[in-house]
Amino acid sequence: MTGTLFPTPAFPTIPVKGESAGYPVVRIFCVGRNYAAHAAEMGVEVDREAPFYFTKSPMHTLASGSALPYPPGTSNFHYEMELALVIGQPVFRATRDEAAAAIYAYGCALDMTRRDLQLVSRAKQRPWDTGKDVEGTAVFAELTKADAFVVGDQAIHLEVNGETKQNSTLSLLIHSCVDVVADLSKYYHLQPGDVIMTGTPEGVGPVVAGDVITGGIDGLAPIRLEIAPAE
Ligand code: MN
Repeated sequence: MTGTLFPTPAFPTIPVKGESAGYPVVRIFCVGRNYAAHAAEMGVEVDREAPFYFTKSPMHTLASGSALPYPPGTSNFHYEMELALVIGQPVFRATRDEAAAAIYAYGCALDMTRRDLQLVSRAKQRPWDTGKDVEGTAVFAELTKADAFVVGDQAIHLEVNGETKQNSTLSLLIHSCVDVVADLSKYYHLQPGDVIMTGTPEGVGPVVAGDVITGGIDGLAPIRLEIAPAE
């Protein structure tokens, strides 16, 4: 056997500040309920013992600055502003020091969500895929290398049409970036190409066609997404 029967798409990439080459997105892991106030607004408890995860297809990556058509199958499409980190070296069953050393860069991300479908799945104890693993809903801004960004008490915020909807601080992350990498490495051989969205603070809500979402984290490149009419 040689070749592939159909063309194979390249992995999407995220620009990295100071680099001409992009960071390849091979896997996307997302942390659920990592800010207490967001868990509360979702009507669920936080688990302070350990994070939990869901995934998105790398092919659902979208660059900041894009226009995303309002997706099919939902009438409650939500924004979630998040800090993303990306892995720069292989780690498995990492110590905290090894986990810290494996973080290559950070960036702003949007975990766009068909909330109505996610909540139906949750209520029926089904997987969240149709709510979360949605085309074009893993939005990433330019990454900043970890030697130029230290996670602290930076503001994390999101606006819709210029009106503030989310405004919190990274100091309220329940499970830190290092702890998330160490924990996730118990279950996966993490390696370059692995992207982790670390969860959203409170204030999530719906958007409609025509809305413009902007967001930022102090010290990182801002993010922007326009919601275009449904196809
Ligand atoms: Mn999220």
